[in-house]
Amino acid sequence: MIKIENLHKSYGKLDVLKGISTTIAAGEVIAIIGPSGSGKSTFLRCLNLLETPTMGTVWINDQEITNSKTDIGKVRQNVGMVFQHFHLFPHKTVLDNLTYAPMTVKGLSKHEAAEQAKSLLKKVGLLEKAAEYPNRLSGGQKQRVAIARALAMNPDVILFDEPTSALDPEMVKEVLEVMKDLAQTGMTMAIVTHEMGFAKEVADRVLFLDEGNLVEDAPPSEFFTAPKTKRAQEFLEKML
Ligand code: ADP
Ligand code: MG
Repeated sequence: MIKIENLHKSYGKLDVLKGISTTIAAGEVIAIIGPSGSGKSTFLRCLNLLETPTMGTVWINDQEITNSKTDIGKVRQNVGMVFQHFHLFPHKTVLDNLTYAPMTVKGLSKHEAAEQAKSLLKKVGLLEKAAEYPNRLSGGQKQRVAIARALAMNPDVILFDEPTSALDPEMVKEVLEVMKDLAQTGMTMAIVTHEMGFAKEVADRVLFLDEGNLVEDAPPSEFFTAPKTKRAQEFLEKML
């Protein structure tokens, strides 16, 4: 469903991504791990054109998103994103956070959008917070709203950039549970995470980035028990 070929990204002279190639199949859950500064966020952001790749090609559902003629807005409709710091609209209620894009971008009626939003809030266990404002929610609740908001656009894939890194430890689990449920529904997901237990349990494949290179691309059973590179071995030793 996603094909990435020789993806490069530089900021001036700094080469952040040095030629990454891989594919992501429909329904696959990919964990992206690696040291801080290795290019994980940049990689993810290139997949929905929050960053413009310097070189290389990305196809999503047979559409070459790196082609300059591609409608970036359309790409972003199909590629949801969940950020470390939630990025909810602070002046909108939870319900309005979920209905805004479906109404303005997809043309759903207010009623349709609200019905869909309520069903998604129910799914993430937050229906009773529909009328609340984001600043009245815990971090874990905010992130579950952000996931529901991404789902409201009915995307083909959702990208998660360290979705639990800003949360207090007791809230990590509730967010991972929602993500695990989502994975079981067959959603295609690419997740930058430091939660090794989650990656082991839920991911179909682990991508290990180091200094802008994809140095390992393997199922968790292989990656966690027999990492091929010294860099991955060292990284895992520090994490465990
Ligand atoms: P990670 O998510 O793995 O920690 P990032 O993708 O955020 O890594 O960053 C990789 C490298 O690119 C870092 O050296 C970072 O400082 C640099 N970088 C990221 N975004 C920018 C930017 N907008 N301008 C310049 N340098 C950037
Ligand atoms: Mg990052």
